[in-house]
Amino acid sequence: MVKDTKIYISYNQVHQLIKDAVERYQINEEFKPDLMIAIGGGGFIPARILRTFLKRANNKNIPIQAIGLSLYEDLFLPNPSNIHSNNSTSNSIKDDLANNDSLSTIGTQVIKTQWLHFGPSHATTTPLLGKNILIVDEVDDTRTTLAYAIQELTKDIEEEKRKFLQDNTENVDIKVPETKFAVFVLHNKKKEKKMELPDLSITKEGRYFAAKETPDRWLVYPWEANDIEEHTKKSLMQQKEELEEIQ
Ligand code: 5GP
Repeated sequence: MVKDTKIYISYNQVHQLIKDAVERYQINEEFKPDLMIAIGGGGFIPARILRTFLKRANNKNIPIQAIGLSLYEDLFLPNPSNIHSNNSTSNSIKDDLANNDSLSTIGTQVIKTQWLHFGPSHATTTPLLGKNILIVDEVDDTRTTLAYAIQELTKDIEEEKRKFLQDNTENVDIKVPETKFAVFVLHNKKKEKKMELPDLSITKEGRYFAAKETPDRWLVYPWEANDIEEHTKKSLMQQKEELEEIQ
């Protein structure tokens, strides 16, 4: 029989990993996030659990914004000029490709399928400026997705800076509020990465939070399981084996 090399992660493990990481990295005391940006779909559940352990700011839960990014290979779109379908997903991809010069800078592997939406009730036109933003994903594999997310968010912040300076032209001494990024992932695979995070201060200043370092094996998350009982059994068995190996 072929050996199953996948690592099965249980919901309890996810919950505990997040709790431990928030304490270990002192996220509430040091980085103090104002906003989470969850990369879909894998970052959604971790972001929601994170919120349970993050201190509320001004008596409010830390808001979660969702963005969607897809590895280009997943979509079988080897060449943008070959997209002729009329369906709306392909059209939005086409628009994105047509409007997005970043694709040429970071390579053609990742595209936006969903982006920030702050809604009409949001009071400011510069919702990212001056914030401590925690970007959340489930796994850092080749780092392509995280690098792309940060590159695109940085562009949005540059745009907000321009707006801010335009709105404050009479005040020459005004300082643009500083925005800081941090990254939270459940798992960081120990391997050579294809990309570096475009904002080097994240790693330099200790704002890269990986709840756990793992070998370069496929991780199966509980939200992907068709049979959650079976999945949890496999996970518990692996955890037991791991413990026995240590002892
Ligand atoms: P990267 O851009 O870092 O190569 O990969 C990021 C995305 O690939 C993740 O958000 C995830 O969706 C997917 N991915 C990479 N490795 C794994 C894995 O081991 N398990 C699962 N479930 N998804 C993975």
